[in-house]
Amino acid sequence: MELLKDKFGRKFPYIRLSITDVCNFKCGYCLPNGYKIDKGDPRKFLSKEEIKRLATALSELGVSKIRLTGGEPTIRKDFYEIVKILKQNSGIKKTVITTNGYKLDKFAEQLVESGLDGINISIDSLNKDKFHKITGHDRLNEILNGIEKLQKLNFKNIKINAVLLKGVNSYTKDFEVWADYLKSNQIDFRYIELMQTGDNLEYFKKYHISSKIFINYLNENNWIIQTLGRDSGPSKNYINSEFKGKFGVIAPYSRDFCKSCNRLRITSRGDLRLCLFGNTGINIRHLIQRDDQTEELKDLILKQLHFKKESHYLELGETGLTNNLSVTGG
Ligand code: SAM
Ligand code: SF4
Repeated sequence: MELLKDKFGRKFPYIRLSITDVCNFKCGYCLPNGYKIDKGDPRKFLSKEEIKRLATALSELGVSKIRLTGGEPTIRKDFYEIVKILKQNSGIKKTVITTNGYKLDKFAEQLVESGLDGINISIDSLNKDKFHKITGHDRLNEILNGIEKLQKLNFKNIKINAVLLKGVNSYTKDFEVWADYLKSNQIDFRYIELMQTGDNLEYFKKYHISSKIFINYLNENNWIIQTLGRDSGPSKNYINSEFKGKFGVIAPYSRDFCKSCNRLRITSRGDLRLCLFGNTGINIRHLIQRDDQTEELKDLILKQLHFKKESHYLELGETGLTNNLSVTGG
């Protein structure tokens, strides 16, 4: 069942759902001054009942995977309940999350018990000082301990993301530290190219660097590119038989990036976003207030898909509605 298709033939089995804009970190590229309440938008974040209705409708439209993101999704008190609802009562096959991992150390067991299918953890550097400089927090050890706990509990689908930052974590020695980590850890590590958002132009100009520098390193060190699965993410993955883990690259500025787009986004206040950087942000919240609105909601989402553009036009500096990725969830 693949009902969500756009006019360019792309299919959308995958939704990224932000469940809060709140975050406790201060990543320089995202929320350098920390989270601030948006006084212009008094709407509350989606409730778990609204999320359940939304996920049920999406599964009926052929969506098989939902990624919970934020802000920091694990900050929500009802976070585990939301995962359980998606796992047990929505028809969605895979529920995964993206997190800064600050709670992993304490909550690894609970996470595994919740039935979660996969976790992406953001770690921009394995160097304590660099990590602190980028995120504003000294919590690297707790996060790494949390990952070890997940591994001991035999949790398999662990990915680590780092934003590639010129002169910070873009040196060959940074790549080698990660390679060392992947020797013995069955984890996918991916560099994401820094993206320009409405808020971060100065930061972007200072720190953006093409991921070619990392791809060259991979090519020179016997890493071989892999083909992608149907609901896989935007990462190009590389394998090397001497390593338990994989490397990957997410390069939003690459020419064909949007051709393989397979996801839509929904913000924490229920705005459907057809693209991370789109200018369209229609609200669908009024159609997740009652169980009998499912058909109307499905109809609206299907109609909206006609407006999805072919590309994000980021290379032209078009950042659309996205001031920072804490709202749309990266
Ligand atoms: N707080 C969680 C975290 O950091 O993993 C989830 C939300 S965060 C917005 C999702 C992802 O977006 C993170 O991996 C983060 O590094 C990435 N991100 C945020 N701003 C970015 C930017 N300007 N360019 C590239 N990636 C960015
Ligand atoms: Fe928070 Fe994630 Fe943004 Fe960092 S990238 S400030 S952890 S929302």
